[in-house]
Amino acid sequence: MKHAIYPGSFDPVTYGHIDIIKRAAEMFDDLTVCVLDNKAKTPLFSVDERVKMLRKVSENIPNVHVDSYYGLLMDYARKIDCHIAVRGLRAVTDFEYELQIAHANRTISDGWLDTIFITSSMEFAYLSSSVVKEIASFGGDISLCVPPSIEEEVIGKMRVLHPEFYQNK
Ligand code: ADP
Repeated sequence: MKHAIYPGSFDPVTYGHIDIIKRAAEMFDDLTVCVLDNKAKTPLFSVDERVKMLRKVSENIPNVHVDSYYGLLMDYARKIDCHIAVRGLRAVTDFEYELQIAHANRTISDGWLDTIFITSSMEFAYLSSSVVKEIASFGGDISLCVPPSIEEEVIGKMRVLHPEFYQNK
């Protein structure tokens, strides 16, 4: 049985992530999407909120499971006995960073954790969680970036953080 982990921050999950989830779920028997709790970042959503949103958007894909972890990806991978990590690539700028992380994970795990890359679909190549948050922070339309249920959650946060841009909405 082929099992892979798709790790990330998913703050929040976007159509770009969903595209990778769908495609990876077709390649593997089982896909665990794991929200890594990175204390170095200040997220908009809590880990629990991000897990809930990921479960919502993947509820119709039976071989996708969502989890969270505070620690090294390698330790999580060993814990669930899975040795393949999936990451998405949008552009060369992603590649340099991703390559370094992939080498690091393979090295510190003694060759146990491999990373495979899936290139983003063209229509989502511009899309990132940061872009979504930036647009929404100024009251912009994010309906092309995230599903309606996620849009609602993002707007809920932005109404509190940036009320000046949501007065008449
Ligand atoms: P990170 O894990 O670096 O905090 P994210 O949670 O935003 O970043 O992304 C998780 C993974 O999904 C990364 O491999 C990232 O390159 C990939 N990804 C993000 N947005 C897209 C997109 N629009 N298309 C394809 N892959 C993406």
